[in-house]
Amino acid sequence: GWLDGQVTLITGGGAGLGRAIAERFVTEGAHVVAFDRSATRLERLTAEVPEVLGIVGDVRSLDDNERAVQQVQQRFGRLDVVVANAGIWDFQASLDSLPAESVDDAFDEVFHTNVKGYLLAAKAAAPALRRRRGSLILTLSNASFHPDGGGPLYTASKHAAHGLLRQLAYELAPDIRVNAVAPGGMATELSGPTALGLDSASISTRAGEWQDVMARALPLSMVPTVDDMTSAYVLLASRSGAKAMTGAVIEADGGIGVRGVFHRAGSGNRPATK
Ligand code: NAD
Repeated sequence: GWLDGQVTLITGGGAGLGRAIAERFVTEGAHVVAFDRSATRLERLTAEVPEVLGIVGDVRSLDDNERAVQQVQQRFGRLDVVVANAGIWDFQASLDSLPAESVDDAFDEVFHTNVKGYLLAAKAAAPALRRRRGSLILTLSNASFHPDGGGPLYTASKHAAHGLLRQLAYELAPDIRVNAVAPGGMATELSGPTALGLDSASISTRAGEWQDVMARALPLSMVPTVDDMTSAYVLLASRSGAKAMTGAVIEADGGIGVRGVFHRAGSGNRPATK
């Protein structure tokens, strides 16, 4: 496999995209540790994919991140790849709709998870990754570049994570490559802040309405799945495949950034053939 013997730690590895990456990395020959705040999800994952080791913790805590890195090193003696991926969404709560009494806490929850969580994973893992000349991969989003993939909380947090990517790629070179994947909307368990009552909501409930919307809006007319993303992570994690890549973002969102104004996709304005 592309990742033979690579020791990898995936935050938010218990569900959705993180879990899909964990399973794919196993098939590529990696040793995989999934870090998630949900013990239930990790138990399910490790029961179904016994090659994966689960560690329960909260990405918002430096202690938890450090404990995870220590446990990986105790178990495998090294750490080659970290995928910082755990995140929450704001279910597109607009500025106007955010309740005055919860906007403060909701902001903190979203930023602490989506931005501080990535920073703390990098902080905890950098010494170990540096020893191995390893790599760090961040999960960004279409919302790292464009409006309407969330409300102001999520969009700002994902733009901030893009800034973090660029700064860390600069600071950690030449020892650690730092790259990202920016998926578009996928049906997963993605939940929201407790402060907005969205902690047990799931983005997958929106997936029904997406099919038609994406078909009309996106050049590729499709709603991506988590399995459509995993190859990008494999490439970025690969020492040989991504040797020259740092600070790169693989956008896998159906082409949001190359939408036409007159036509969704160029096929719509081919001259008619007689
Ligand atoms: P998901 O909820 O299915 O998986 C995320 C996992 O992270 C969950 O298992 C959850 O328990 C865990 N998690 C959340 N907060 C945590 C915390 N504080 N500490 C530890 N673990 C925590 O969601 P997903 O869609 O797979 O999300 C993964 C990443 O993909 C996120 O960064 C998200 O922003 C990004 N993303 C998702 C979509 C989408 O439409 N689903 C689109 C673009 C980007």
